Amino acid sequence: MLIDLRSDTLTRPTPGMKEAMFSAPLGDDVFGEDPTVNALEEKIAKLFGMEAAIFCPSGTMTNQIAIRLHTQIQTEVICHQYAHIYLYEGGGIMANSLASVKLLDGAFGKITAAQIAESINPDDVHAPETTLVSLENTMNKGGGSIYRLDEVKPIRDLCRDKGIKLHLDGARLFNALVESGESPLDWGAHFDTISICLSKGLGCPVGSVLVGSKADIKRARKVRKAFGGGMRQAGFLAAAGIYALDHQVERLKEDHVRASALGEMLSKLPVVAEVFPVTTNIVIARLVGTTPEEFMKNLAEQNIKSVKFGKDLVRFVTHLDFGDEQLEEFGKRIRNI
Ligand SMILES: *Cc1c(COP(=O)(O)O)cnc(C)c1O
Repeated sequence: MLIDLRSDTLTRPTPGMKEAMFSAPLGDDVFGEDPTVNALEEKIAKLFGMEAAIFCPSGTMTNQIAIRLHTQIQTEVICHQYAHIYLYEGGGIMANSLASVKLLDGAFGKITAAQIAESINPDDVHAPETTLVSLENTMNKGGGSIYRLDEVKPIRDLCRDKGIKLHLDGARLFNALVESGESPLDWGAHFDTISICLSKGLGCPVGSVLVGSKADIKRARKVRKAFGGGMRQAGFLAAAGIYALDHQVERLKEDHVRASALGEMLSKLPVVAEVFPVTTNIVIARLVGTTPEEFMKNLAEQNIKSVKFGKDLVRFVTHLDFGDEQLEEFGKRIRNI
């Protein structure tokens, strides 16, 4: 049995999800006529108390659309140096929006209102004007760490005060919400736009949604066109999203419990110097006396897959296809390392 912990994107649709997909009513979404896409967009907008939503193939696309909405040439985005929008989106801030970026540091991938306040560029001919702050929750490279609303509120107040937009890369926002117990409505009220991935822990084959104001999402449809266009009978995919929201949100907690157990097991290995605090479904181990390549090779010999996540870091992500049986098996196999 392969235990694949490289990512929570590796899952395949469950039987219930497949059934929902194949029975979805369909239409041409570029004409705005796919009833299932429309239903998903309405459902997720309502969930976050936002006016509108747009369904896209990827979280990279929804993030990049949001950045385009909230920037112009020669303006600047503030984010953490480990932000997905900066590290893992192909240089899209530059390539798609011709905008500059200011990178901040902070424990577990998080930044504070005080840091942001110091980094906002003055209205000065020399500097790119700061127009956007982007946060990430959960924070992938921070080890799946969580922002709480009380950390976000001062950031929102600062941004409103300075006329700066606030975007959330919420690829794994539901992981944060099931853990914190905070509501999507409250989160929606703090941001101009939020990007949500359906293809991570929620278990869909494809899809992300961007929520925001009516005006922003109307512009987002035009930006999406220029970024490659819309999809036609995308209701097949949107149906998976609706199914996931109805049936596969609460179970994210199970992934967190298993991640925590997995972190415990790893921390007992002599080659593991430390495990980042496990709060959601991401486990990052810092190695000592070995390299990620060597460690991962030993794991691969036990039919366990992981990814290198830095010069001495390895990442494991729990998901829908990693149950108690796999967890137990993982524990047995790593004893052989
Ligand atoms: C996965 C991910 C995205 C989007 O990724 P896609 O693979 O393009 O859907 C964005 N932000 C974070 C933090 C992610 O983990």
